[in-house]
Amino acid sequence: MSLDGTYDDGNIFAKILRGEAPAVRVFEDSHVLGFMDVFPQSKGHCLVIPKHSTARNFLEEAPEVIGPLMLGVQRIARATRAALNPDGLMITTFNGAASGQTVYHLHVHIIPRWEGVPLGRHGGGMADMEDLKALAELIAAKIS
Ligand code: AMP
Repeated sequence: MSLDGTYDDGNIFAKILRGEAPAVRVFEDSHVLGFMDVFPQSKGHCLVIPKHSTARNFLEEAPEVIGPLMLGVQRIARATRAALNPDGLMITTFNGAASGQTVYHLHVHIIPRWEGVPLGRHGGGMADMEDLKALAELIAAKIS
């Protein structure tokens, strides 16, 4: 899919928001939902999505949604740092298939990184659900 197109509310993140698909939730408020990426590129990889949005990517999003979204991202990123003590964190959004985007509901990746630990493949192996739940609990406990 290119940068241009129409929002499809059958996408997996829209289903998660409607409660039609499962997710290991980390944090939510009235604006955003944070949940664990099931194909994590590192330990603690999580995604943050706007709840009230039909933007397929960052470029399309309404300006008034960006502020609360990024506040949610910062909150979860800070909690991730406190919970997992990474050496760094990647905070990214892919826009269009050419950039690597695969799900067309705006989302921000929070990917903790440790020195000497290579980044896992984008869309790599599926995580163990119990491991993801344990990580989500650790991160959620540090949300402030
Ligand atoms: P992107 O390629 O930036 O569109 O990222 C989509 C991300 O969603 C990838 O990192 C996938 O691993 C992740 N993903 C796909 N399906 C699910 C799902 N059901 N629950 C959690 N993460 C998912």
